[in-house]
Amino acid sequence: MSAPQPTIAAIATAPGRGGVGVIRLSGKDLLPLARTLSGGKTPKPRVALYTDFLDSEGQAIDNGLLLYFAAPASFTGEDVVELQGHGGPVVMQMLLQRCLELGARLAEPGEFTKRAFLNNKLDLAQAESVADLIDAGSQTAARMALRSLKGAFSEHIHQLVDDLITLRMLVEATLDFPEEDIDFLEAADAKGKLAALQSQLAQVLAGAEQGAILREGMNVVLVGAPNVGKSSLLNALAGDDVAIVTDIAGTTRDTVREQITLDGVPVHIIDTAGLRETDDVVEKIGIERSRKAVQQADVALILVDPREGINAATRTILESLPPAMKKIEIHNKIDLTGETAEMLSDGIHTQSGADTLIKLSAKHKTGLERLKQALLQQIGWQGESESLFLARSRHLHALNQAAAELENAALCSHNQIELLAEHLRLAQSACSEITGEFSADDLLGVIFSRFCIGK
Ligand code: GDP
Ligand code: ZN
Repeated sequence: MSAPQPTIAAIATAPGRGGVGVIRLSGKDLLPLARTLSGGKTPKPRVALYTDFLDSEGQAIDNGLLLYFAAPASFTGEDVVELQGHGGPVVMQMLLQRCLELGARLAEPGEFTKRAFLNNKLDLAQAESVADLIDAGSQTAARMALRSLKGAFSEHIHQLVDDLITLRMLVEATLDFPEEDIDFLEAADAKGKLAALQSQLAQVLAGAEQGAILREGMNVVLVGAPNVGKSSLLNALAGDDVAIVTDIAGTTRDTVREQITLDGVPVHIIDTAGLRETDDVVEKIGIERSRKAVQQADVALILVDPREGINAATRTILESLPPAMKKIEIHNKIDLTGETAEMLSDGIHTQSGADTLIKLSAKHKTGLERLKQALLQQIGWQGESESLFLARSRHLHALNQAAAELENAALCSHNQIELLAEHLRLAQSACSEITGEFSADDLLGVIFSRFCIGK
């Protein structure tokens, strides 16, 4: 990095009260600040220093641990100091104010991670996985984010870029010797190398697509008459998996939406029973939002009590769903009808028009496995694996672009070597965008501004 950056400071722990609160600082030379704050003690790198944190008059604001990480062996690559005090909002604010007094400025969202990126401590994909790890909606997502943070995804991208560079060098060398180009490329098996690259890229893309499913989850609409067993089914599906209900930004808590995880995949469920008319303004907004979400759901689960059939209200909702939406009809309470749990799909006729029918009992938890499988199959989830990457749409876009360029490259004929070289160059720059080698400043701004402060 060129110009020295100002020292930044932020409360790194979540707002509220906790046993410990952490303030994080990063900057060029933090030893003077650490000495002033601790009353003249000099911290050793990576050794906890138990000390009072002093205000400008030498009075203790708090006492706790001071951790000093000397540049470049720190998260940001700069000097980093962490102050672990007592986790009350007032103490933390006073301590933060003191740091500002001593020359630090407030960190922007994601600024610590941004500095880590700019100092080559992390590449862009790794930096993004810091945010993904913090935001992870399931244990599987958290595990995958950590793998990316440790560089598993980036390694694959680097390998792709390396191989692309090798091939490009080969192709561009022939541009200098036009009369020999064909023989030269054939001898070097350029076509074979390109094909290998394509399949390598296809594998990474498949892993990234699986990861995107894990990130985004699936959206399910629950339709059915009162007392047919919707809540029971939700609980049964959530099972031992911890049902994590997240606060969706900008919405108040509503009873219409729930989130469970199936095999690690977050499943967002909208219970249409909650979509009623209301005069409450806030509730209206939530319900309007949910109505829109219903229209964009991946699959509708239609719950039916086989003894009663589909009622008029349910039918109205069914008719309002997009005709293309995948539907699964569920006959619940088979323990009362004496039917056996099963899944029927070939050439069946259902009351709802769904082409899959699952008979189960939510109360007795029979037949649930088939339903889980049917749901996960619906979005193409293949299960957690080593080849899965928690990709963002930005990554998918770049990988798809690279794949398209390689396809174009493969179509080039013998007398289009220059065009071939250009497609390979574009494929490389698309891949490099993922790890940030070719990223414009505005892209960095967008990515890091979505972080929380203190990260
Ligand atoms: P909802 O109004 O659609 O959410 O229905 P609930 O989940 O609240 O269930 C209504 C009633 O049906 C409750 O008394 C449940 O215990 C019962 N119930 C749900 N599923 C089953 C089932 O599979 N078998 C039997 N016997 N009762 C069920
Ligand atoms: Zn209910």
